[in-house]
Amino acid sequence: MDLSFDGRVAVITGAGGGLGRAHALELGRRGAKVVVNDMGTSLSGDGVEQDRAAIVVKEIEELGGIAVADTNSVATVAGGQAVIDTALSAFGRVDVIVNNAGILRDKTFHNTSTDDVDPVLDVHLKGAFNVTRPAWAHFREQGFGRVVVTSSSAGFFGNFGQSSYAAAKLALVGLIKVLAIEGRKYDIKANAIGPVAQTRMTEGFDNPLADHLDPALVSAVVAYLCHDSCEPSGEILSAGGGRVARVFVGVTRGYLNGDLTAEDVRDNLTEIFDDAGYVVPENSMAEMTLLAKMLGK
Ligand code: NAD
Repeated sequence: MDLSFDGRVAVITGAGGGLGRAHALELGRRGAKVVVNDMGTSLSGDGVEQDRAAIVVKEIEELGGIAVADTNSVATVAGGQAVIDTALSAFGRVDVIVNNAGILRDKTFHNTSTDDVDPVLDVHLKGAFNVTRPAWAHFREQGFGRVVVTSSSAGFFGNFGQSSYAAAKLALVGLIKVLAIEGRKYDIKANAIGPVAQTRMTEGFDNPLADHLDPALVSAVVAYLCHDSCEPSGEILSAGGGRVARVFVGVTRGYLNGDLTAEDVRDNLTEIFDDAGYVVPENSMAEMTLLAKMLGK
């Protein structure tokens, strides 16, 4: 059976173009009532092009869907609250949040100033807090919620010139790890995607795979993660070009020595880094059990 979103209300931030627009069209097409949030900034976060969200609302309506535009900035606490208020006043509830809004201020670490760092953290990282927090009480009350954050391979694996962006993106993984734990008993699921898609954010890169990177292929993954039937929580899925794969933080078995010295670390790097038999702990306490096991406790 097709995955339907009838009766669900979805908030998609930064949905006036690129990936967010594709997510909004996909969820709208599948019956969700959609809040299309986008303040219409340039790639670097300057300027405002207010009608970008409204254009996507029109596209959803042309597909027979229901949507409302919202032009608040996710970068402030008041803006995040206002986005959720838009959902509540237009549709009376909120079920799904896709934190997708983003900007780029790429510079080498050597050349980065706080003027570049703060806006990136404000939109990507705090934006997810600002929009998700006002919805959280509703999720708990109704015993249902889906949160997706848009992380990045730059955060998982690193990328030249993207220190603030990568830091913000990986911090979002910490956020969904905790939301997954705290939301478990309320059927709230929180996951991260690491998308790859051809959008204005990536068109500057000369990518030979560009023709394969339709944002809609990422939206298929987002739609599953936002659906009632979504099973994973606290997970990261890499999504792009039709490929979906799990990204995870694992830990090696490691080297144990009750009298550990700096020299022991130097002399046992092979064992420390040996990833045979690695483990993916389900929470921070689970890592302690690895130590306990090695200590024979
Ligand atoms: P995009 O520039 O087309 O979309 C970002 C949207 O966010 C824009 O429409 C912009 O107006 C909006 N926005 C920016 N600041 C906002 C704010 N404060 N409040 C509300 N809206 C705001 O780029 P995209 O490629 O579609 O990026 C979407 C997300 O995916 C971003 O978080 C980006 O970092 C992430 N991402 C994209 C790729 C990729 O391959 N395209 C890869 C990894 C991560």
